Amino acid sequence: MIPARYGATRFPGKLMQDLGGKPVIVRTYEATKDTKLFDEVYVVTDSELIYKEIELSGGKAIMSIKEHDCGTDRIAEAVVDMDVDIVVNVQGDEPFTSKSGLKQVLSVFDGPDADKIDLASLMTEIYDWKEISDPNSVKVIVDKDNFALYFSRSPIPYPRDKNAAVQYYKHKGIYAFRKKALLDFYKLPMRPMEAAEKIECIRYLEYGKNIKMAISNTQSIEIDTPEDLIRANKVLKDDKNITINNMYRNFPMVPKVVFGRGSFDQLPSILAPQRKDKAPFIYLVDDVFKDDEVIIDRMNLRFNDKLIFVSAEEEPKTEQVDTIVKSIKGEFTYSPSGIIGVGGGSVLDLSKAVSIMLTNKGSSSDYQGWDLVSTKSVYHVGIPTISGTGAEVSRTTVLTGPDKKLGINSDFTTFDQVVLDPDLTASVPKEQWFYTGMDCFIHCVESLNGTFLNEFSKSYGEKAYDLCKEIFLSDNLSEVESRGKLMMASWHGGMSIAYSQVGVAHAMSYGLSYVLGIKHGIGNCIVFDHIEEYYPEGVGLFKKMKDYHNIKLPQGICNNLTEYQMDTMIDIALSLVPLWENALGDDWKSIMTRDKMRELYFKM
Ligand code: NAD
Ligand code: ZN
Repeated sequence: MIPARYGATRFPGKLMQDLGGKPVIVRTYEATKDTKLFDEVYVVTDSELIYKEIELSGGKAIMSIKEHDCGTDRIAEAVVDMDVDIVVNVQGDEPFTSKSGLKQVLSVFDGPDADKIDLASLMTEIYDWKEISDPNSVKVIVDKDNFALYFSRSPIPYPRDKNAAVQYYKHKGIYAFRKKALLDFYKLPMRPMEAAEKIECIRYLEYGKNIKMAISNTQSIEIDTPEDLIRANKVLKDDKNITINNMYRNFPMVPKVVFGRGSFDQLPSILAPQRKDKAPFIYLVDDVFKDDEVIIDRMNLRFNDKLIFVSAEEEPKTEQVDTIVKSIKGEFTYSPSGIIGVGGGSVLDLSKAVSIMLTNKGSSSDYQGWDLVSTKSVYHVGIPTISGTGAEVSRTTVLTGPDKKLGINSDFTTFDQVVLDPDLTASVPKEQWFYTGMDCFIHCVESLNGTFLNEFSKSYGEKAYDLCKEIFLSDNLSEVESRGKLMMASWHGGMSIAYSQVGVAHAMSYGLSYVLGIKHGIGNCIVFDHIEEYYPEGVGLFKKMKDYHNIKLPQGICNNLTEYQMDTMIDIALSLVPLWENALGDDWKSIMTRDKMRELYFKM
């Protein structure tokens, strides 16, 4: 429900002002509808003009019957006779209403304390004292379970101790109510604290209701003044320009890289100029090296540097990233001089994500997607100990979050320095060597056979493809030569997909990973083995490589899936639209139907 009053006090008629060719209220309506989170979206208004505009643009609007003091009363009146469970109040003057914020608010109703919640609302972290002390920004304080304790225009809590570590939160005016709670509130008269602060939600606290606060740090622009409108129009225009620029990919490359057997020993001298006074280097190291004193010794930790062993047992999760960042922030006063990742794709991805989250607020899950990172990450170095993923060169970090498996793809993800020492991969077990190596081979096949292919990608893809054939199908390479070549194949494979895209095997493997926890390398192999229909030559070669190295892949992994699990798996795979467009062209939906995908999964 989007309450929309025509005569706003500070900026009359603002909802009907032009924003990129459409009235503000129409933009808000469309943005809300586009989230696909709601069964129905309505504008509830006192204005004939707004009502007609919404109807005209194909939306649904309701005229309020009575005069109302506040938006909540307006929507309460509108839902009295509707059959609904949860009603969300979306602000009419927030045309860039974000899906993630609305989703966070709704998610509390699935939480363990859902029964206790009367209504839910949103808050965002604030840091700037100007904003904290600004009476126009409403602050909120919460208990340990994020239930609201109080809302105020004053800074709360008051910082008597200027050094106390306290997080300030600003309230965002989005509410989600159970229908019953909404109708209850409708009848409650205003009490003195609400009247004094002029903050609507204080009324609920004054009547002892429980308000659960969710955190969302996505930016939004509220249109309160004519200046806000100018800013919003500019944002809209810039957004359009960005998509135009993206026709040609403008990506950073790793600016510094050393290659060669033994180059790992150069690390201390590479790091020395990057060290900032009192700020440690944090080493995130794969825990297979836990007892390898030689490797640890070669890293040459100094001063307050810290070594954190991480397990690659499971692929990186947003939660794991957030936990590591929190512990680093808790332990050190100074932001680290750098993050050094030593391990396979899992540890490299984790290191990239941690370095981003040390300078960007909120949860790493807020940044899963394209170019959502706004602040430069801390200096970070990638040192692969197994070859194939191309994670050492790519602009992404693949993370499994609460509701998706998706990379943080940004200019700030790419490593500042990479150390390629093939000797570090000497201890990789054979099966793992094959699975991760095949990730590289599959990157090449998917890139070279995709509709996004261009000369840039092709030059890298062809090189890596040939190297893989040599490594996995000929027997005239020594182990040392083979390790050096695979390290370079991985790099080139990564470069190739950066300027094109992966395809069918990756999309379906993401589904396996999300539902069954099957890891990237082996998951790709399991899928690739069954998709000769799409990549006849590549899959043919793959089967030869598999036999040559006597690799046995698991069988029948989807046999015992529930219908729900299968549906989720298909949903996850189909959600990766660019991969399908690359693999099968614009018409991909008619080629890869749900039934077709189900049939393929059952073969695996
Ligand atoms: P991994 O990092 O998951 O490691 C696989 C196993 O090998 C682990 O048990 C690890 O402990 C072990 N290992 C690593 N180095 C070793 C060594 N030198 N000796 C002995 N054991 C060693 O494997 P991976 O295949 O390199 O990475 C997979 C991950 O990479 C997935 O999470 C995937 O999502 C990600 N990935 C990222 C990108 C990207 O562009 N960012 C691309 C592809 C894959
Ligand atoms: Zn891959």
